[in-house]
Amino acid sequence: MYDAIIIGGGPAGLQAALTLGRMHRSVLLLDSGEYRNGTVLHMHNVVANDGTPPSDFRATARAQLAAYSDIEIRNIKAEEITGAEDAFDVRLADGTVAGARRIVLATGVADELPDVPGLAELWGVRAFGCPFCDGHEHAGRPIAVLGAAARAEHLTGLLGRIASSVTAFPIDAPYTEAERRMLESSGAGVSDRPVRSVASSTEGVLVRTDADESQVAGVFVASGSLRQRAPFAESLGLRTLDSGAIEVDDFGRASVAGVSAAGDLAHRAALPGPMASVIAAAAAGQLAAVGVVQSLLAG
Ligand SMILES: Cc1cc2nc3c(=O)[nH]c(=O)nc-3n(C[C@H](O)[C@H](O)[C@H](O)COP(=O)(O)OP(=O)(O)OC[C@H]3O[C@@H](n4cnc5c(N)ncnc54)[C@H](O)[C@@H]3O)c2cc1C
Repeated sequence: MYDAIIIGGGPAGLQAALTLGRMHRSVLLLDSGEYRNGTVLHMHNVVANDGTPPSDFRATARAQLAAYSDIEIRNIKAEEITGAEDAFDVRLADGTVAGARRIVLATGVADELPDVPGLAELWGVRAFGCPFCDGHEHAGRPIAVLGAAARAEHLTGLLGRIASSVTAFPIDAPYTEAERRMLESSGAGVSDRPVRSVASSTEGVLVRTDADESQVAGVFVASGSLRQRAPFAESLGLRTLDSGAIEVDDFGRASVAGVSAAGDLAHRAALPGPMASVIAAAAAGQLAAVGVVQSLLAG
């Protein structure tokens, strides 16, 4: 029986493992290899790792974790969690079962993109969602924002200082007159026609409507949603927030005893949503691990 099983090998799970391993708590980290930034070539806004490929970041973390004899990593999917605090069982994809006193969920979220032909192929390379992560790389060049007017206006506010111009494209139907006025007053140009497809081009991205096409350096997606990558929030009956994320306290503890959660899949109720970034996920992983250490001491 492990002290803790961590499910997830992104920044949240890797940091949680490091913290627990350093405190000589036995840890099994499970990783199915489905990372939110799995298509991303270079991550940004990560101090000391600005521009580092996420795959390098994970490889370095794993190499450093290998120095700790209490940490075991398996590249395998967790299928089911049963049991309760001090006696959880995690069934793995190969049918074996591993036991642990505590569970740390760090399974992340998956992005549900709007149905725009070509968009999925560009995701993380020339199409993005987060100006903090990928805005600066488009400095002084034109960008497009695609989809929902309210979010597009917000993106224009953030990106307008960085890009040479921002053009908003609706997705299914033209923007309403009120939406057009709102977008224009935020500084965006507004396409009359919905985007029909996007494709990689020498200048960045070719955005096509039924009537014309535009060259931009990159696109930011204003529509779309997130879903929990793994089924455990639901199967364990964890309390969730309006954002769809798992509710946690300051030390990452979820609403079921012995279960913690860290990273994009969880946040405190005081926040409107997960602060989705590599640094925030790692910080949450560390806090969750500290919470686990404290509860093991108390138990
Ligand atoms: C296009 C894009 C670009 C981004 N760029 C940046 C950037 O430049 N800078 C930045 O700070 N942030 C960036 N982000 C955000 C960043 O990727 C996330 O905030 C971060 O990866 C969250 O870490 P996490 O550990 O919570 O989840 P993830 O990194 O998504 O890791 C989830 C882990 O859980 C595992 N998992 C899931 N289900 C199971 C299961 N059933 N069994 C076993 N393992 C499982 C997965 O395999 C994976 O190891 C970007 C996001 C996107 C979508």
